[in-house]
Amino acid sequence: MGILDEDVQRVREVTDIVAVMTEHVQLKRVGRRWQGLCPFHQEKTPSFSVNSELGLYRCFGCGAKGDVITFVREIEHLDFPGAVEHLAAKAGMTLRYTDRNEGEARRRKGVLIDAVARAVDWYHERLLSSPDAGPARGYLRDRGLDGEAVRAYKIGWAPDSYDSLARALRLPDSELVDSGLGFLNSRNSQTDFFRGRVLFPIFDVSGDPVGFGGRILPGRTGPKYKNSTESRIYAKSKLLYGLNWAKATIVTEDEAIVCEGYTDVIGFASAGLRHAVATCGTALTEDHVRSLKSFARRVVLAFDADTAGQSAADRFYEWERKYEVDVAVAVLPGGVDPADLARSDPERLREVVNGAVPFLGFRVNRTLDSLPMGTPEQRARAAEAALAVIAEHPSDLVRDQYVMEVASRTRLDPNSLRSRVDRPRAVTTRRAPPQRQSAPMASSWAESPETEALRLLVEQRDEISPWLHESLFADPLNLDAYQTLLAHHDPRDALASADDATADLLGKVLLADSDAEPMDVVERLLQEAVRRALTQIEMSTREPDQALAMAKEVAWLKLRREELDDPVRRVEAAEALLAWLLQQPGSNPTEPRGLDE
Ligand code: ZN
Repeated sequence: MGILDEDVQRVREVTDIVAVMTEHVQLKRVGRRWQGLCPFHQEKTPSFSVNSELGLYRCFGCGAKGDVITFVREIEHLDFPGAVEHLAAKAGMTLRYTDRNEGEARRRKGVLIDAVARAVDWYHERLLSSPDAGPARGYLRDRGLDGEAVRAYKIGWAPDSYDSLARALRLPDSELVDSGLGFLNSRNSQTDFFRGRVLFPIFDVSGDPVGFGGRILPGRTGPKYKNSTESRIYAKSKLLYGLNWAKATIVTEDEAIVCEGYTDVIGFASAGLRHAVATCGTALTEDHVRSLKSFARRVVLAFDADTAGQSAADRFYEWERKYEVDVAVAVLPGGVDPADLARSDPERLREVVNGAVPFLGFRVNRTLDSLPMGTPEQRARAAEAALAVIAEHPSDLVRDQYVMEVASRTRLDPNSLRSRVDRPRAVTTRRAPPQRQSAPMASSWAESPETEALRLLVEQRDEISPWLHESLFADPLNLDAYQTLLAHHDPRDALASADDATADLLGKVLLADSDAEPMDVVERLLQEAVRRALTQIEMSTREPDQALAMAKEVAWLKLRREELDDPVRRVEAAEALLAWLLQQPGSNPTEPRGLDE
């Protein structure tokens, strides 16, 4: 399945990895590479390194690595074909597919997205300049959406006429219908789907427009919101409004705010919370959670308290367990939506989000707060009600902590409460969330002389290669990398021919500069080699007369080793040691594999 290999390769070749990356990372040229703060983990010192010649990147902090396609996959959260298509579109390339049906499906999707994109522009233009959009502009102003926001979010106006869009776009019937922009009426003439509504274009995660949320103007009749119908490109159970803009911040915050309205998303952003998304006219679905968990480990619901309270608790607990996310609730002051609060008191809105409590905690508080607790009888009833809420949670460890809290708030004995919620249920073994790795600086990446030597073999091949020999590489992986590099003049070919483990090592080697002097590295390699040789000799000469025979050799080695520290004698000592190593029975030089000239 998928795109022709040849085309994938072509996309890699025509794409400038640095140009693609600078949309997401600030890169600075350092020597022959580029460096910046890793977009995949939080860091203050740059450990993200890009080699534009090889088209590869690597983060020495979190281990993220790959080529431009991997980068786009990770940063845009696309699958492989999606990433290749994304890059191909940038490069103006048309891709060929291995399966004609798939190619056709993707082509069709592209056609429909183009249609919606034209509609977005047309509706937006109407809102900005058309006289009949006056009330719509007034409504948006009243909601605190100024011209800047209107432009940023491409908000539009669907005129109150039955076919203005259809006439303007002149789409083939099938495109109008399949894109959800319109339908054919009983006389078979093209008819607009949206009429007399303020339109919020909805983009998919990669930023392609796929549909609209339409808000009726106050005082008009009809449902308050009308969204695009389900189509090949619009699936409301999967789409989250604003995810295309918010995803980068969601990743860095490791948190997504989920609200209910388009204007709420815009309000959050205006209050500096750029990681909010909205469901498009549905409750939060499992697909939404699955999508969000690839960006963040925490989901904060910013619904009004009643909506959040009525959410199906057991589904949330199930999702928490299944997707390893934490669901929390940001409790908004009664009757106020985030968009209002963002305007009237942005600081309060930020506090509300920061003070979000775990979903179960929210429900327990809500139960206890709603019941009187003046008398022992009332406190007992409140405790019963709270325990019923707690009992729904699948983890006994979690349940127990809330039982303690209820006990303290109702002044009842925790032990007697505990027995009421303990029930025979499988203990959920929730894996601990993956620890964010701390980020060592690029330069502190443990530099063994062997990896330094490999790096120099790439950068200063002529200087170092006469000094290198297989016996200097004690680590089999380093040895393999050495042989592979030696066998290929172009490091890219070495990389392509290496197996996974070696390729990974070569990736590290190729994506950091060495500022070491070749001779210093050779010296360190030889020190290590002598140390190994001495150990070897010691172990193999148990008999006293043998030891005597070797004493001269040991003394010679130790002397040369000391000379390595002496700048005057260093080169000579290194030559002597290298010659000695070459004569050792274990050194057994093998031919470099498959010289590719
Ligand atoms: Zn990183």
